[in-house]
Amino acid sequence: MPVSRFTDSQKIDIVASHQQKESMRSIGRRLGTSHKPIIAVLREHGVPPVAWRVSGVKVPSGQRKVIAERYTDGESANSIAKDVGCCPLTVAKILAENGIAARDISAATRRLQLDESVFDNPSAEGRYWIGYLMADGCVHKDKRHDSWSISLVQTATDSAHVERFREFLGSGATISTRPASQPRMMPGGYVSVSKPPVHFSVVSKRLAEALIRYGVTPRKSKTAKVIGLESCPHFWRGAIEGDGIVTWHKNPSRPLPLIGLYGSLSLVRQFETFAKSVAPGIKAVPAPASRGSISGLRMVGKPIIPLIRALYDNAAVSLDRKWTVARLILAQDWSDPAPKTCEVSGCDRPHAACGVCKMHHRRLKKHGSPYIRMRVRGPC
Ligand SMILES: [Zn+2]
Repeated sequence: MPVSRFTDSQKIDIVASHQQKESMRSIGRRLGTSHKPIIAVLREHGVPPVAWRVSGVKVPSGQRKVIAERYTDGESANSIAKDVGCCPLTVAKILAENGIAARDISAATRRLQLDESVFDNPSAEGRYWIGYLMADGCVHKDKRHDSWSISLVQTATDSAHVERFREFLGSGATISTRPASQPRMMPGGYVSVSKPPVHFSVVSKRLAEALIRYGVTPRKSKTAKVIGLESCPHFWRGAIEGDGIVTWHKNPSRPLPLIGLYGSLSLVRQFETFAKSVAPGIKAVPAPASRGSISGLRMVGKPIIPLIRALYDNAAVSLDRKWTVARLILAQDWSDPAPKTCEVSGCDRPHAACGVCKMHHRRLKKHGSPYIRMRVRGPC
């Protein structure tokens, strides 16, 4: 509101009231405005604005009880103080006198819905999201406000998955779309065009602390290490879908399943241990794209089928496009074909060549038929 809005008499009143220790907010409220135009008027008249502290307000003992009750009923300390005409610190003192603990600041100031207990004792779905956040999420502490945020940034292709995460948290926060970054020329000479990312974040110290207990810590990309979920398939499915691959390896004779994980060296090692525990036959090789302190691991071929089965059987939640590939892989018949036997009826010797066993093959070569046992001798 411009300063000129006040009349001269109002300005005189403002200055006089302030000198009589009325707070700027209170004057502002009286004149239907905020404290800022009041400060401007005071400055205009060369009166230094002073933040008069509301102190020495004695709250009668009867009212003290009422204040404590109002706070336990959910009203904020600030709003009670404003109403009673005392300082919020006085309210805090009264609460302490009555043995009432102050509400957690994030719970007290929470405007949007959020289920903060989801990671306290996580379900299968919760463990999946811990893995997903381990790979692709971010836990961040804002030092100035001692507030913790958990965020997830994905390309627009996976926005449905971000929506699923939001539902899991029971959150009322919105998912925002950000503009795509400029196309970049890559070393190989091709131009990298990125899709616009979608961004989702919530603020919760309780969620962040629970995630940190499982190893999802701030600035974790180089040091990530899971604690307590090393052998949970739901966790590893989350990690793979966050920063890994489930796909077909283009083998010339027959496409083979391929699974891979990128991440810190310790996380990748932990995954290797898990993979070998469910599928002892697998051989893990470092992924070719290992870069700097980010490592990768790839496993190819039939021996990884038990691993894919462990990850994708009973999948409570999964990224659609990776789930589709995993389902196709598992739908194939990976059982060993029954060993072939000789085609000659009544013979069950193992197959050697041309559909018959060694003996019948020898007869076939010698006589032109596997049924002829010896040369028919002609007349002498
Ligand atoms: Zn035979």
